Formats: sequence, structure tokens, C-alpha cells
Amino acid sequence: MPEYIVLLGPPGAGKGTQAKVISETLGLMHISSGDIFRENLKAQTELGKLAQTYMNKGELVPDDVTIAMIKDRLSKPDCEKGALLDGFPRTPAQAVALDETLVSLGGKVQCVPLIAVEPEVLIERLSGRWSCRAQGHVYHSKYNPPKQAGICDIDGSELYQREDDQPATVERRIKVYVEQTAPLIEYYQKKQLLVEVDGTQPIEVVTEQMMSAIKKAIK
Ligand code: ADP
Ligand code: AMP
Repeated sequence: MPEYIVLLGPPGAGKGTQAKVISETLGLMHISSGDIFRENLKAQTELGKLAQTYMNKGELVPDDVTIAMIKDRLSKPDCEKGALLDGFPRTPAQAVALDETLVSLGGKVQCVPLIAVEPEVLIERLSGRWSCRAQGHVYHSKYNPPKQAGICDIDGSELYQREDDQPATVERRIKVYVEQTAPLIEYYQKKQLLVEVDGTQPIEVVTEQMMSAIKKAIK
């Protein structure tokens, strides 16, 4: 049976950082809705151009577009063993659509680690974030600096600062998270899938605690 894990947490909590390591350890595809939108933007597809109008304002891309995109991505052969979802679902409608999609793929959500970080920390995290152009690896100028400034340790590509990581947009994104995404905490709690991890600990400690929760859930 394919295995599906959903990472929850506010923008800047560390979902992408953890997903890169954990997906490799578990041999699951890392599916980041934000990365897919950014790839589309780079390629100037219609989807990318549409998503940009929302992303620049810190708003969510409409559910119908986002759900169709993820449904399509999860049905690709490289997701046969399952996936680690990062940034999706972000609304109750997306969560319901995900459950339905996974039934049709012969699986279900098995574990939902919530990376908990309070809002005051998020602004500093995101204003120091540097992302790699090629594959979305993430660094932080203070907490996780690359060996050579401006260059990704893993694939050597250029590091850049995301436009939506400016404080004003971050504030809006946090508000959107509280209003539209935080209700998913209760949704997954009711299904007994939620495991909260303190995301203010060092990156390696967060990884360890998330791995131990995931292993218990998929054993
Ligand atoms: P998200 O995907 O949830 O938006 P990221 O994984 O991109 O978050 O992390 C946001 C920023 O915080 C990055 O610059 C990353 O290097 C840094 N970061 C991630 N986890 C930690 C941590 N545990 N402690 C300190 N900084 C972290
Ligand atoms: P992220 O890379 O997860 O920080 O997402 C960046 C931006 O992409 C968000 O602020 C939204 O505009 C958009 N986005 C990513 N995932 C979703 C989603 N599941 N639903 C709606 N919009 C999304």
C-alpha cells in the first residue's frame, strides 16, 4: 500500500527543510505545492502566471486549481510508493479532496506531523531564508548557512531570496495560515493522525522526533 504523510505548520516552520531529509530516508517523493507553482512560474505556464497573482500577495491559490494540480502529480508513476506532502492541503476543502484522491490511489494519510513554531520566530526565519533555484533546497543565513554564500551545497545552483518572504507578505501569509489552514489541525486530530513537534529545536532534533513519530505510524 502506498504511504502518504502530510506536513503541517505555518510558513517558515521548517516543512521544506525536513521534507528534503525525511523523503530521502523513507524513499518517498517530496511533493511541495509551492515548489510546483514556482516551477510553473519559471516556465511561464498559464498555471504559473495565475498562481503568481496570489503568491505575490501572500494569498492562497484557489482550491480548484490547486487540487487538480496535486491530483495529477500524485497519480504519476514516481509517486507509486507514496508521497510526503509539504504545503498541501492548506484548506479543509483541499484536505477532503486529498482523502478522496488517496482512496482512488489505494492509500490514505498515515501521519500528520505538525511543526509548531510561534509567529514571532517565523518572520526572522523567512527574512533569512535562501532557496536554491534548481531544486528548492533551503538555507538560513544564520541558522543553516551554505558552505559558500549564495551557492547551494547540494547541487551548486544559485541561492535567491523569495519575493514573498518580505515581512509584509509574511505577515499576510501567517494570517492566512491561522484563518484557513489551522482548522486542519482539528481535522487530523479527530482522525488521530496529528503529532505535534516543537519546531524551535535544532533542525536535526526536529528530524529525529518527526522520524520517530512517522515510523510508529507506518510500522
Ligand atoms: P517552510 O517550508 O515550512 O516554509 P523552511 O523549511 O523553508 O520552512 O524553513 C524556513 C527557514 O527557517 C529556512 O531559512 C530554514 O533554513 C530555517 N529553519 C528551518 N528549520 C529550522 C530550525 N529548526 N531552526 C532554525 N531555523 C530553521
Ligand atoms: P510555500 O512554498 O508552501 O510557502 O507556498 C508559497 C505560496 O504558494 C503560498 O503563499 C500560496 O500562494 C501558494 N500555495 C502553495 N501551496 C498552496 C496550497 N495548497 N493552496 C493554495 N495555495 C498554495
